[in-house]
Amino acid sequence: IKIKVTKIDVPVSVASAFEGERVRKDTMFAEFGGNKTECWELVTSGDPAEMEDHKITLIGPDIDDASFADADVVRLPLGIVVTVGGKAMQKDFETVLERRIHYFTNYIDGAMHVGQRNIAWIRLTKEAFEKGFRLKHIGEVLYAKMRSDFEKVVDKCEITIYTKAEDVKRLGEEMVKPIYAERDARMNALTDASVDEFYTCLLCQSFAPSHVCVVTPERLGLCGAVSWLDAKATKELDPLGPNQPIVKGEAVDERLGIWNSVNEVVNAASQGAVERVTLYSILEDPMTSCGCFECICGIMPEANGVIIVNREFSESSPVGMTFGELASMTGGGVQTPGFMGHGRFLIGSKKFMSAEGGLSRIVWMPKELKDDVAERLNKAVFEMTGIENFADMVCDETIATDSEAVLEFLETKNHPALAMDPIM
Ligand code: SF4
Ligand code: ZN
Repeated sequence: IKIKVTKIDVPVSVASAFEGERVRKDTMFAEFGGNKTECWELVTSGDPAEMEDHKITLIGPDIDDASFADADVVRLPLGIVVTVGGKAMQKDFETVLERRIHYFTNYIDGAMHVGQRNIAWIRLTKEAFEKGFRLKHIGEVLYAKMRSDFEKVVDKCEITIYTKAEDVKRLGEEMVKPIYAERDARMNALTDASVDEFYTCLLCQSFAPSHVCVVTPERLGLCGAVSWLDAKATKELDPLGPNQPIVKGEAVDERLGIWNSVNEVVNAASQGAVERVTLYSILEDPMTSCGCFECICGIMPEANGVIIVNREFSESSPVGMTFGELASMTGGGVQTPGFMGHGRFLIGSKKFMSAEGGLSRIVWMPKELKDDVAERLNKAVFEMTGIENFADMVCDETIATDSEAVLEFLETKNHPALAMDPIM
């Protein structure tokens, strides 16, 4: 028997109208992730026969724990596991449901959610706390929305929320990371040439009305949360939803990544705001950027290459701008030649601005990002150019951030970008 879930039992309002709400420092009561604590989220499927629907468990202290009585801000590690079960549930749907955690949490009046996977970042307001909002209510919202929005596949749903540092760390390493890695490996096996269809993603049109992501096997959505497999699964789950197939056909220009089919669909889906996009160029008709890109890539002309800055990095970059400053000129659904929002996973894709020379153009990245992507990046650059350990040639903030010192470093490393055709 399917039970229809409509009412959500929480002390604050829950509606898509609250989606764009930011929680600033002065109104913030509690914070999870955002570089301060570990924070991850996972949707996994379970055997319905062994599940108890609507079971919501908090393991560890809540935000009203006595130990926080004197704290300015409550900071806790957080791990959220959503287990879903149902006859029609498929493993490929997990990531699609997982991405919705971002939207569902943002629907809560008094909550902000940024990022995904193990770079999730959540803030709760003082007002929500005073109204009685507690961590289990995040579970209530996720439960209700998973059941109602995915009623075709979710018959049972359990939520477990972990806030003890040792649990969040251990499960993050032993359970969560291997699942992320397995998903990435499946995706790595696919190429743009090996499929007949790309997909649109229009989810971000709610706040960037002319923005369209074109999701291909080698170019995931710029939020980092929608891979080609996810888009394909979403189309199955929600046939009229945000991911629609683009039947590829012949390329007009393989190098730049121009397809008439893509242009037609983007033009229509952006209501004429964007007439042409290339999939592989940062200079010629680059794809638009909404606001939730994980990284921004921008040209550093004097190095004949590009720098990449990720959202978590708050310092200035060698182009003289922080992530926030770069984001304000790149976002909003407009095309900004020379700048491009993208997902972390794109760093390691052979299609990463391949029209301008690709991955070997990368001259600078924050160290954390560089370490995170090094393995895939090194492998891809080696396969494309024969250069080993490319990540070692890429400068970072622990080496240099000012333009001259970056150039000096690139020269000592004999960075390949210095010998490539002028980028502009
Ligand atoms: Fe979809 Fe792109 Fe928004 Fe990600 S950034 S949710 S892929 S539109
Ligand atoms: Zn977006």
